[in-house]
Amino acid sequence: MKCLVCQTDNKDGAKVCRKCGVDLNLPPLWRPDWKWHAKVLGVIYVVLIALYFGISNFLGRIPEPYRMRQIPSEVTPWLQSK
Ligand SMILES: [Zn+2]
Repeated sequence: MKCLVCQTDNKDGAKVCRKCGVDLNLPPLWRPDWKWHAKVLGVIYVVLIALYFGISNFLGRIPEPYRMRQIPSEVTPWLQSK
């Protein structure tokens, strides 16, 4: 049987790898499959979309002048051209 870590061949029934000493009776490492990726990406997208609408809704409720799109020129005198 091969060591999962260093790929060294070991005797069948060996308890630990003779090269790196890792426990050969451990189950193989769990790796995410496509279902896991789909689920996690779905959760991330749902959270982002919910945040987008939530923040948009919140910003839409803020009264003037905090959501001004155009900044009056007297607020930014350094941008005025004479
Ligand atoms: Zn090993």
